[in-house]
Amino acid sequence: MAKNTIQVTSENIFPVIKKFLYSDHEIFLRELVSNAVDATQKLKTLSRSGEVKGELGDTRVRIVINKDKKTLTVQDHGIGMTQEEVDKYINQIAFSGAEEFVNKYKDKAEAIIGHFGLGFYSAFMVADKVEIFTQSYKEDAKAVHWSCAGDTEVEMEDTIKAERGTDIVLHINKEFEQYLEDATIEGLLKKYCKFLPVEIAFGKKKEWKDGKEVELDEENIINNIAPAWTKKPADLKEEDYKTFYHELYPMQMDEPLFHIHLNVDYPFNLTGILYFPKIKTNLDVHRNKIQLYCNQVYVTDEVENIVPEYLTLLHGVIDSPDIPLNVSRSYLQSDNNVKKISAHITKKVADKLAEMYKADKADFEKKWDDIKMFIQFGMLTDEKFYEKAVDFALLKNLDGAYFTLKEYMDKVKDTQTDKDGNLVVLYTQDKDQNYSYIERAKQKGYDVLEMNGELDVHQMSQAEQKQEKLRFVRVDSDVIENLIRKEDAVKDNYTDEQKEGIRKAFEAQLPQGDKLNYYINCEATAEDALPVFLTQNEFMRRMKEMSAHQQGMSFYGQMPDQYNLVVNTSHPLIKDLMAKMTSAEIEEEKEGSKEDEPKELVKKTVWTLAGEEEKLKQLVDIALLASGQLKGEALAKFVNRSVELL
Ligand code: ADP
Repeated sequence: MAKNTIQVTSENIFPVIKKFLYSDHEIFLRELVSNAVDATQKLKTLSRSGEVKGELGDTRVRIVINKDKKTLTVQDHGIGMTQEEVDKYINQIAFSGAEEFVNKYKDKAEAIIGHFGLGFYSAFMVADKVEIFTQSYKEDAKAVHWSCAGDTEVEMEDTIKAERGTDIVLHINKEFEQYLEDATIEGLLKKYCKFLPVEIAFGKKKEWKDGKEVELDEENIINNIAPAWTKKPADLKEEDYKTFYHELYPMQMDEPLFHIHLNVDYPFNLTGILYFPKIKTNLDVHRNKIQLYCNQVYVTDEVENIVPEYLTLLHGVIDSPDIPLNVSRSYLQSDNNVKKISAHITKKVADKLAEMYKADKADFEKKWDDIKMFIQFGMLTDEKFYEKAVDFALLKNLDGAYFTLKEYMDKVKDTQTDKDGNLVVLYTQDKDQNYSYIERAKQKGYDVLEMNGELDVHQMSQAEQKQEKLRFVRVDSDVIENLIRKEDAVKDNYTDEQKEGIRKAFEAQLPQGDKLNYYINCEATAEDALPVFLTQNEFMRRMKEMSAHQQGMSFYGQMPDQYNLVVNTSHPLIKDLMAKMTSAEIEEEKEGSKEDEPKELVKKTVWTLAGEEEKLKQLVDIALLASGQLKGEALAKFVNRSVELL
């Protein structure tokens, strides 16, 4: 038997194979099966061009486990290899300038793997010894037996092989005996080989008969050789897309909303089908379902960093021979083809949505609630997508009518522009809780949007950043007169001391809470507004809500809830209370006087309110009740007190 050595770089390659791909060793099967498929397809091409004559016969690729011999064999009937070819393609793995490359990237194992495509040699991740039995299709070629036990020594000899093609025999290492289990191998074949273009057979088909699983005579074919994405859109019906969706995700019960069939051949090759799932809440559940293929070979379903983040919410497949196989994540991200692919998909997705919106607005509106999270997420994270999506991203008002931002601004600009020229958009997150506020807004002829989606606050903030003089305010964040100020605030005739007195009186009746803070101020709002009511700063509240989704904003999340308790000095009840206050003159130390100086005293009028505690409590509770904050014991007390007062 002739002894040969694998040339030059193999000594560098073996430790790399063993060490760095340890965690991903299962890909050996993908590599070997795709080599077998390639060899079979090459044969078919040669046959079409007449270079290979006669019938091709059986071209299935088979995976065979021999438990006694502890071997796993990948068998094809493809072009095979001559002795020279084995020497050139297998022995000299340094052939295509690899030596130079390895020297350059000595310390970057991942880049090395990425450059070569580990291919055949990945077999050594799980096997102590690998054998090749191969018979080339070429006339007069002798069959070759090659074997190697994972060092740089290989053995090569002539042999007799009846059938054309190649058998790769792996003597599985003791540590990896799971690869001799039918279930493991079938699982891996289903994962990596489900859509390979040549039939892959593994064992026999099984069937349940009389409560028992019996083997049939038929071979068990793992794959669908012509998955939907490889066909022309014109040849596919709506039904076919749905069937394929379930073929991709057998566990998924929901139907997709719609799909995009990708088909590009310039400046790079890309095919695929992307599906829009219904996304209502919880973005994470939908992440990372897109499967990436390279010529129908499964590469990964971890597409984050390969496509923009929001696109990871879509489902489906992307297939491109330009996506390098076997490479690390960081390598993929910096790959120029991958970047172009990603930009292209963004454009396609945006164009498809724009086209759907234009073609059938009513239908698009029906789908809106299910796709809005996706679109909002895209707009927030991808400027290019934002530019397109702003023309079909919708807002919904309480009448259930939909508008683009521009349409909506046009609709309300005459009524809802305040005295400073700000266009104020009113919204609610809970139309039942905000009922009374909404009614007052409607009485003024204003419109109110419903913004209760998980990303709606982010959408508003983005719109405000992009549009000058546009403000979103929640309808209950203040009395309507203050939210859209049409004239200067009304002044009352009370002195600061009087207001301080009523403030103190109310303060004594406030509920105390850990994460709750109330500030009291007096305002002459409107006679028909509540005597006392709560308002909440729009900015602070929104920051708190947004912090739930954004890292680095937890500062806002930890802030206590802050409310303003507004005492409406225009209201008859408050006027009445003011009238009941009594004043007294007191002398007080002057502020800012120094310790060593003689104390300076100033005269001050102090107003107090006595004997009205029950009424004050009742007023505070009414304000809390109107904002949905009166609960539990406090609510029970309120009810009892109300009865007593009556
Ligand atoms: P790659 O497939 O990326 O070229 P491999 O190390 O997997 O790298 O294979 C090297 C070469 O060996 C292939 O390009 C092919 O020419 C040859 N080869 C491997 N497996 C087979 C096979 N089953 N039949 C015929 N040729 C094969």
